Amino acid sequence: MVTAEFYRWGNLGVVLALQALRKTYPGFSLELSLSLPQGQTLALLGPSGSGKSTVLRLIAGLETPDSGSIRMGERDLLALPPEKRRVGMLFQDFALFPHLDVYENIAFGLREAGWPAEAIRRRVGLLLEQTHLTPHARKRPHLLSGGERQRVALARAMAPGPDLLLLDEPLGALDRRLREALILELRALLAGGGPTAVVVTHDQQEAFLLADQVAVMREGRLAQVGSPEALYHRPADAWVARFLGHRNLLTPEQAERLGLPPRAHLLPSAALGVGEGAGARVLERLFLGERTGYWLDWQGLRLYHETPDGRWREGETLPLSLDLGRAVPLEGA
Ligand code: ADP
Ligand code: MG
Repeated sequence: MVTAEFYRWGNLGVVLALQALRKTYPGFSLELSLSLPQGQTLALLGPSGSGKSTVLRLIAGLETPDSGSIRMGERDLLALPPEKRRVGMLFQDFALFPHLDVYENIAFGLREAGWPAEAIRRRVGLLLEQTHLTPHARKRPHLLSGGERQRVALARAMAPGPDLLLLDEPLGALDRRLREALILELRALLAGGGPTAVVVTHDQQEAFLLADQVAVMREGRLAQVGSPEALYHRPADAWVARFLGHRNLLTPEQAERLGLPPRAHLLPSAALGVGEGAGARVLERLFLGERTGYWLDWQGLRLYHETPDGRWREGETLPLSLDLGRAVPLEGA
């Protein structure tokens, strides 16, 4: 895998800033402002169709915005054609050239940019080595495994030493086991001292593992931006909370019934425990391996709790303790 050291020269003092960026398609409109400090990774996290790829395509210059600005430091990217933006992009389906071998896929952008032959040879050689692709250099993409294809796409995106790396679902086309292995490699690459990067994903865990900042997108807008921990512990509203995987959300009426202020609340998992509390009837028991999940009926509320203790069966009563002091108030209903 390519090391952070290798990348450090590529991005000096550059900050990405999207200002009031707008793009409208029939039935869809995007409007957002975002900024990203140099060397940081931003994840665009949102459901399918929320506009994540569109943001990348606008930054890369594959689409033109209706209005707004995109700047990298002092440079106005919208005034530049895609090839002059110094942006490297890894596409959702990797989009490798099927008729070119691994070496030529990685070299492609360098040839286009007019790099001298010897510089191309050295650069591609280094990237092949660092992505463990040297033995595959002369294979065409159809002979590669999914993980190898992903590495080729990554090496190709990074080849010209772009100021900004755009990764669209970089692990999306891979099976789960492979994702788990590759995500840690990608994390190491993007971590401290690595390139400035925007990673698109619909997977919360991927966003949390890769990014310094996560921007949650919903229908072309930013629902919330923050560090993974801030987002998870303080989601702005019920939609974001649910999207991030929280299951215990209270409506204002339910909150009031429990003695909380009459607004929506999140009960984080730390607010629930097995203890001396009132009994909660097990509606559904989900054996997950390490842990067991329980859907519970507690005083007419449907709550979810996960614990390593799998002793309770459906219909039985689990002693649930609830710490309402940990409830997180949310915006909206
Ligand atoms: P995501 O990457 O979050 O899944 P996209 O950015 O690909 O979402 O798409 C957002 C919306 O914009 C979708 O409704 C999609 O159909 C629409 N869209 C994207 N590109 C185009 C296009 N070139 N022409 C028309 N509609 C488009
Ligand atoms: Mg997409």
